[in-house]
Amino acid sequence: MDNLRLWHKFLETAKPLIGISNFKGFLRISTLKSIAEDKITIATPHAFAKATLTQNYLPIIEQIFTDLLKKKVTVEFIVKEGAAEPEIERGEDFFQPIQNHSAILNPKYTLENFVVGPSNNVAFAAAQAVVQNPGISYNPLFLYGGTGVGKTHLMLGIGNALLAKKNHLKIIYCSSDKFMNDYVSAIQEHKMGSFRTKYRSANILLVDDIQFFSGREGTQEEFFHTFNELQSKNSQMVLTSDRAPQEIAKLEDRLKSRFAGGLMLDIQSPDFDTRVAILRAKCVEQGLILPEDSLKLIASSLDSNIRELEGKLTQIIQSLKTRNLAPTPENLTGFLNQPLKKTNGLDHKHVLSVICSFFNISLKDLTGPKRQKELVLPRHITMYLLSEELNLTVERIGEVLGGRDHTTVMHGRDRIKNLIISDKETQRLLIEVKQKIST
Ligand code: ADP
Ligand code: MG
Repeated sequence: MDNLRLWHKFLETAKPLIGISNFKGFLRISTLKSIAEDKITIATPHAFAKATLTQNYLPIIEQIFTDLLKKKVTVEFIVKEGAAEPEIERGEDFFQPIQNHSAILNPKYTLENFVVGPSNNVAFAAAQAVVQNPGISYNPLFLYGGTGVGKTHLMLGIGNALLAKKNHLKIIYCSSDKFMNDYVSAIQEHKMGSFRTKYRSANILLVDDIQFFSGREGTQEEFFHTFNELQSKNSQMVLTSDRAPQEIAKLEDRLKSRFAGGLMLDIQSPDFDTRVAILRAKCVEQGLILPEDSLKLIASSLDSNIRELEGKLTQIIQSLKTRNLAPTPENLTGFLNQPLKKTNGLDHKHVLSVICSFFNISLKDLTGPKRQKELVLPRHITMYLLSEELNLTVERIGEVLGGRDHTTVMHGRDRIKNLIISDKETQRLLIEVKQKIST
């Protein structure tokens, strides 16, 4: 196979596996620079593409080439010579701005894979308008609604679409928790200057689950000023909450009125047809085909939380696979009433027990005070997984891990985030652990 054909074959295979925005934004405009022995070099258009691909997709990309060439190869990304560097990479601290984007903007959530129905079409249209004219149409866009109705998905969809359109934008996505913790650490460490520079220089600020600002006076004060500054610069803000601003207890009136000053939209629970459409889309994403009747049966078993609906789908498919049964409605019914394990079929106890057996350590040691190296890495990986995969707050993770402080959790989680970028061994470990968790 010549290089050009190999590259095209590679792109074809990679396309469904890599978020569409990353594919279009980074991979499709990269080129195959060279193949030497077992090392493939890919030239990317800029350092941000290089970092995103390395950080999020290196193992997948290496696997695809290994399969295509039928021999083990490694892949290295370089930046094309003479390529224009997007503004953001000129900062002194190379990885700092990059983390603002890709490490945190999960490429899995896009506007393309957001299924639109009567429960969310107004919010979806607003999201599109924001992508068309960020900072101008609706600022802030405030999305609210129950758990698992797609608020975070839509918000990240906006972020990813904007990033694909203009990859020099500085996009910050954070939970309200993260904003709060950053603020508290900044005060403690006398680093308010860099905290303000960070948040106030965003072109796009996405803050998730803002209801947790309730009762946090200092954070609210700081956020109020951040908000005003960003708004005055027409920097787009998107905020989500589980309820409308007026209903958030202990939230300053001036913030309530700021939030209400943009566009507030609620996302409702999806109706039956939308639930079926979402299930169908999730199957397609996983390369599965389920009979319509089976999809309908699953859709009728849960009526509000899409996260749980997805969890149910995964669980049922898994049960059918283990028993080698076809996904017919008859075969499904037996599994429909199984109690659903939390969040995507995962709960923290399961993650902890997988980690313990994987690293061959006891739960007591994992959650205990000892600080040997053999315990610290599994502990940090646990922190990372509970945060990234289960979306637990750092406070909650601290509790689950035997009462650790949330700053310790943040440190552990971030250490793994950085290691994933730089260390192959950690990448490999994480892939294996994740596989164990999902089987
Ligand atoms: P929320 O933030 O409202 O609690 P999420 O955005 O995290 O909910 O959504 C929960 C899960 O449901 C995610 O996996 C998301 O991809 C999926 N989901 C929600 N709404 C949709 C939709 N309209 N189309 C496709 N997937 C959706
Ligand atoms: Mg959410």
